[in-house]
Amino acid sequence: MREIRAKIEAAIKREVRQRCGFGCVVCGKPFYEYDHINEYSKVKEHEADNLTLLCPDHHAEKTRGLRSADQVRDANAAPFNRRMGSSSPYRLAYGGTVSKVSIGSNSFVQTMGSISEPLVLNGEPLVRVRTESGNLLVSARLFDASGAVILTIDDNELKYDTGIWDVEFVSDRLIVREAHRKILAKIVFSPPDSITVERAHFSHEGLSVQVTAREILYRTKRGKLSISGNSVLDIPYPRGVVLTDENHELGSLPAAINVPVRVG
Ligand SMILES: [Zn+2]
Repeated sequence: MREIRAKIEAAIKREVRQRCGFGCVVCGKPFYEYDHINEYSKVKEHEADNLTLLCPDHHAEKTRGLRSADQVRDANAAPFNRRMGSSSPYRLAYGGTVSKVSIGSNSFVQTMGSISEPLVLNGEPLVRVRTESGNLLVSARLFDASGAVILTIDDNELKYDTGIWDVEFVSDRLIVREAHRKILAKIVFSPPDSITVERAHFSHEGLSVQVTAREILYRTKRGKLSISGNSVLDIPYPRGVVLTDENHELGSLPAAINVPVRVG
C-alpha cells in the first residue's frame, strides 16, 4: 500500500531554505526539492534538521545512489550559497529583439536597437536591457528599504544575497521576503522577452522609489508622487521613467517620463 505523506509545513520549509542559503546545497541552483537526508520511509517525519535542498540533478544523483547520503550530509553542513555569501548565478533565458518591461503598472515595450533603460534614478539605469549579437541582455539592481543591494541581474545572470530573510522561486516568480508576510521584492520572469517588477525598492545616490503592483512611488517629506499606468510603446525614447534630483545632471538620452525632484 502506498503511504500517504504529511506535507512539510511552510515554516519548516522556510527554516531549511534559510539554513541552506536558498539554493541546492551542492551547487547553489535556485530550483530545488526538499530532500530527507535520512530517508523519509525510515524517519517518517519532517524535521528541519533532516531536510536539505537539492536541485533536480543532484536529487536524482542521490536517488540513484550516485551521491551518498554522507556526501549530501557534508554539503548540507556547508551549503554552497552559504560558503559564497550569495546565490550561485542563474542564467535567465532571455533572447530576441523586442523587450517588454513592466514596473509598477508602467509598461515599456521596445524593439531593440541598442539599449532600453526603463528606470533611471539620478543618472543611473537600475533596470536596463541591451542587445548584443542577437541576445537580449537584462540587467537590474534591487535594494531593501535601507538602500542595501539584495538582488542583481547582470546581463541575464541572476544573483541574490543569502543574508536576506527568505528568497523563493514560485514557478516563474521570484519572491524576496524581509519578514513573515512582508514581501520586499517580487519579479515575474517571462522569457524570451518579458520581465515584470511587481514589488521592489530602487535607490541611487539619495534618491529612492518604491514599486508596488500599482505604481512607482516617490516619497518626500512634503508628499508623494505616483507614476502609474503609463504605456511606452516603441517610441524613440531609450529611457522610460527618469527621476533626477537637483544635485544630478538630467542626462542627454531622451526619456518618456522625465521627473525632476527636490530632495529634502
Ligand atoms: Zn545542485
